[in-house]
Amino acid sequence: MKFFSKKKKDTKIPPETDGASTSPEDLTQSDIPDPATTDSVESDEKDELIEKTDDDQTHEPEKSERKGFFGRLRTGLKKTRDILTTDIDDLFLGKRQIDDDMLEDLEELLITSDLGVQTTMDLVEGIRKRARSIAGPEELKHVMKEEVLALIRHDESQVPAEPLPRPYVVMVLGVNGVGKTTTIGKLAARAGSHGKKVLIAAADTFRAAAAEQLTIWADRAGADIVSHRDGADPAAVAYDGIEAALSREVDIVFIDTAGRLHTKVNLMEELKKIKRTITKKLPDAPHEILLVLDATTGQNALSQAEMFNDELEVTGLAMTKLDGTAKGGIVVSICSQLKIPLKYVGVGERIDDLQEFAPEEFVEALFN
Ligand code: GDP
Ligand code: MG
Repeated sequence: MKFFSKKKKDTKIPPETDGASTSPEDLTQSDIPDPATTDSVESDEKDELIEKTDDDQTHEPEKSERKGFFGRLRTGLKKTRDILTTDIDDLFLGKRQIDDDMLEDLEELLITSDLGVQTTMDLVEGIRKRARSIAGPEELKHVMKEEVLALIRHDESQVPAEPLPRPYVVMVLGVNGVGKTTTIGKLAARAGSHGKKVLIAAADTFRAAAAEQLTIWADRAGADIVSHRDGADPAAVAYDGIEAALSREVDIVFIDTAGRLHTKVNLMEELKKIKRTITKKLPDAPHEILLVLDATTGQNALSQAEMFNDELEVTGLAMTKLDGTAKGGIVVSICSQLKIPLKYVGVGERIDDLQEFAPEEFVEALFN
């Protein structure tokens, strides 16, 4: 999905701060982060982190200014990076060459960072083969960077050709709380800022207040929204969304869905019904089935991806909550174990905290 061209790294979409007028009373702060407040809290916290840890970042912007996306990704991955890099330094204490003990310890620390057993074994095997040429921790980190990058690099052939069909329909899936609605809000804002006309269909009718939450995000993003009452048939919402998109000449439609129903079977059946309904209205849609995964769930994210993919043929992944997790290795695991491309990463709750996944950048943030 490439419905917006890549922007410069430091380009920001300023969030609107008019939450008060649109915010329904039954929503809590935890449902909708208010940019006006989360901004100051978050940047204070992060500044503190930076002061303590990032001694190589001497040109920090003023407190009120947010760091670029890479800086936020790097700060977010600090815990994972600490496990990887500090422990690699320790591995070499008193040694000059890689030996079996060291590889065993390395295996353990990779698993601790949530790279998963298979990915860890692949990586360690790659390092074992190159062991003779590795004489110290810096060289080991360098080799690991290369090996990890080889595992997570994109297959560019997956990028759909321009121009995209109109409307381009993105159905968004994921278990409850992973960040589907937030991710839609962020993607809608980005697409909107690239001049695209966006419509969001609130097909999560299961959770009370889901549509209100989405309405706030849609307002912030300048997108249209189609919603029905709570408990309505989600497939009908999706249908109306596509219909409205066709008549209003919308460029991109995001379909939000529920992540929790009474049973897993119910949820999968409902999602399949939504998908069928979309296809009935627009034969080549949905063009993208985006599965949202929460990095803090570690290896669980991998099993979720397998589960959803078995039922719905997921075409892309978004990984949220990479800010502050020690489980950042899950990204490597996901990219190397699955055939589904990781398209977006999220590093916070604000509207500009989402970006296209860039493997080189990720590896830099993970090891440097
Ligand atoms: P949904 O149930 O899948 O729609 O999830 P929501 O979009 O409602 O998000 C659940 C919670 O996760 C909310 O509090 C979001 O603000 C938060 N969230 C979403 N993405 C991120 C992220 O990248 N980082 C952090 N820290 N929180 C996030
Ligand atoms: Mg939601």
